[in-house]
Amino acid sequence: MSAPAPVVREDEPSIAALLAARPHLAMHAMDGLVLEGVPLMRIAEVLGTPAWVYSAGTMRSRLAALTAAMRGLAGVHYAVKANDHLAVLRLMAAGGAGADVVSEGELRRARLAGIAAGDIVFSGVGKSAREIRLAIAEDIRQINVESAEELEVVSALAAGLGRRARVALRINPDVDAGTHAKITTGTAQTKFGIPFAEAAAVYARAAELPGVEPVGLALHIGSQILSAAPYRAAFARAAELVWTLRARGLAVQRMDCGGGLGIGYRDEGDASAAALAGAIRASFGGLDLELIVEPGRWLVGPAGVLLAEVVGMKGGRIVVLDAAMNDLVRPAMYDAWHGIVPLVGRNAQAATAPVDVVGPVCESSDTFARGRGLPMTRPGAYVALLDAGAYGAVMSSTYNGRPLAPIAMVDGDRWAVIRDRQLHAEMWAGERVPDFLA
Ligand SMILES: *Cc1c(COP(=O)(O)O)cnc(C)c1O
Repeated sequence: MSAPAPVVREDEPSIAALLAARPHLAMHAMDGLVLEGVPLMRIAEVLGTPAWVYSAGTMRSRLAALTAAMRGLAGVHYAVKANDHLAVLRLMAAGGAGADVVSEGELRRARLAGIAAGDIVFSGVGKSAREIRLAIAEDIRQINVESAEELEVVSALAAGLGRRARVALRINPDVDAGTHAKITTGTAQTKFGIPFAEAAAVYARAAELPGVEPVGLALHIGSQILSAAPYRAAFARAAELVWTLRARGLAVQRMDCGGGLGIGYRDEGDASAAALAGAIRASFGGLDLELIVEPGRWLVGPAGVLLAEVVGMKGGRIVVLDAAMNDLVRPAMYDAWHGIVPLVGRNAQAATAPVDVVGPVCESSDTFARGRGLPMTRPGAYVALLDAGAYGAVMSSTYNGRPLAPIAMVDGDRWAVIRDRQLHAEMWAGERVPDFLA
């Protein structure tokens, strides 16, 4: 029995609608799909596919927009894990952003890209002793402590180095951000943060420990959050805790409001930075706190595309690309929807046929789209997978012996390669066959 033919969903946005919502992308009659001022076909021809392309102008303007929305209210710390490329970090530093890091590797990258230690916050649920020592030695802005146990460890390590580390306690406000279960972090069932009911006691303990100085609170309730409601709920609880702590004579100077601002992958539109600012103001406005936000996805997600070539067709209903889940894992991991647009203008106009778009990896989850209305269905055609600037290249692997794809950055009508395609030999360079197998 053959599988049922894919059916295009009626509410699927058209290619024209996808492009209209993304001002950095345009379809030109001659040049095809253009990112800022650069035809993507030109990059695909030079670099081959799969290849990532980032729009510097888009990252810059999104950072400027967020900074403007937060002016006089909160500082912006870019969550490095969304896209940790040195050029992206350099651009964030130039735009005045600090960083939120979750590992030694990210801390080193941020410093290398020119972000001052005093502008770096260290988050993360399982920091190693080595990472904590590095954060203390670098004298970063603050370590966001995830548990009562970690607080003791940070204090002991700092005291051992003759230092007092500034810490914020990451609280778990037990608020459901209404997002995908794999990116929810603010409910009591998740591994993140100090349970709300225990937070005051842990803060009091921090004030007694020799190696730490508690400077405030932090929270981060999840990712791809599209409405202000979960923020309002979480911030209200945090503000309540600030009052409780201060009533007990404990100093609370800072509040890290976390990241999580969502973007419009399909037709949902971007989360509003102004609405986030409103939620922050509503809960923390009168509390005389130094505030920061730490978004990743919102700043860089829309600014990246993944270019791929059609390598085959199966039965007129399955389009096989040369990009795969090892490059962009979001559809396989989070059931994420990504727009797919042909790079050639005349293909973009052609009638759409419902197809499943898949990669060549030996997993059925290696599927980018199901029942998508796509005009190009011939091998050799190029497509762009949209909104791949966040949690894209950073999540790539070499599964199925596939080298990491190259990255280009576009800025106006200039472009440059910012990472070469990994060589096959580089994939096994660190491997050794032991003597006992000789
Ligand atoms: C992942 C993460 C962020 C950024 O999340 P986005 O959804 O990309 O904005 C911010 N803060 C912490 C603690 C995180 O773990």
